[in-house]
Amino acid sequence: MPTTAIVNIGSLITNDQTLDAGLLGELRDAALVIENGRVAWVGSGAQVPATDRVIDAGGRTVLPGFVDSHAHMLFAGDRAAEFSARMSGQVYAAGGINTTVEATRAASSADLERNLVRLATEMKSSGITTFETKSGYGLSVEDEFRALEIARKHTTETTYLGAHVVPADYKNRGEAGIDAYVELVMGEMLAAAVKAGAKWIDVFCDRGAFDADQGREILEAGRMAGLAPRIHANQLQPGQGVQLAVELDCASADHCTHLSATDIEALAASNTVATLLPGAEFSTRSPYPDARQLWSAGATVAIATDCNPGSSYTTSMPFCIAVAVRDMYFTPEQAIWSATLGGAKALRRADIGHLSVGARADLIQLDAPSAIHLAYRPGVNLIHSTHLAEDFS
Ligand SMILES: [Zn+2]
Repeated sequence: MPTTAIVNIGSLITNDQTLDAGLLGELRDAALVIENGRVAWVGSGAQVPATDRVIDAGGRTVLPGFVDSHAHMLFAGDRAAEFSARMSGQVYAAGGINTTVEATRAASSADLERNLVRLATEMKSSGITTFETKSGYGLSVEDEFRALEIARKHTTETTYLGAHVVPADYKNRGEAGIDAYVELVMGEMLAAAVKAGAKWIDVFCDRGAFDADQGREILEAGRMAGLAPRIHANQLQPGQGVQLAVELDCASADHCTHLSATDIEALAASNTVATLLPGAEFSTRSPYPDARQLWSAGATVAIATDCNPGSSYTTSMPFCIAVAVRDMYFTPEQAIWSATLGGAKALRRADIGHLSVGARADLIQLDAPSAIHLAYRPGVNLIHSTHLAEDFS
């Protein structure tokens, strides 16, 4: 296996806490050696060992590839008209999801896959090297199975979200229809998701979607079937979603827009990552959560795109970092950490989100003298190149 050195790195973000070099483990004038797709050596550019190949970073910043731990990429159509109406003064309601459900059910598998690939390509050009994607726009046994089968061809981080909303064909039947849908989600549809190779199970636990009791039942059923739980919690209003996430040891509680002091304490004392989604508040013109409270309590915080056609149609992690800094009061360093190692922790992955020895060599070359420029230069594409571990073998 050939070895590769990346030399002449102006600023290297390792996220390696053992270096005693700040939250981001930043080394100046650094170099990195890669062997078998893994980081094999990190250190000063003056001491780099000989390798088969050399890449000159030209003084650029090198940082771990972004880890997008929350996206919804299996859908058809768009909702530009709904966005325009909302920006003209209407209030966001979760029911808009049904518009996408109809379009998704009507689309061919080839079209769904083409759309996924288009979005994944956008993500890679914005520096994302690992993405999670959920189902949740099929909401029938066949359509959820189809979405997850397509997803697993493109990522290992696939999430079954049959419990996104109750689809119109069940909701129209009132309480009995809702109960029947919850049964389906925990029964036949769950079995199909497992067969399709889903890794995670998620529930949208909020106003207009599922309550905490339904969420608990569904996530426990998923866990019994071998899926690991995560949850959409406390986006539209305060509620029990975050407490449920901690109770069930969910890998992450996502959104966390409306948090009580008790929620923050519970997160800080748990292994559940608080995943904030700046694109969602931005695109629904909603109040932003204050990340300072989570950081000062000691909670682990991630940032993700929440890419979806209704409430956050972005694939740009640099955009999310800029908004997180400006409007959620992350420091630039915290935002960069949350979009890399924070995202990895939200997926319970130890091999990504950092560039210490042993990590996958998923990394970004940034056309800037420091990673802070990601927030400092909003809307400017600073991604010079995105490399996956496989590119080096
Ligand atoms: Zn979401």
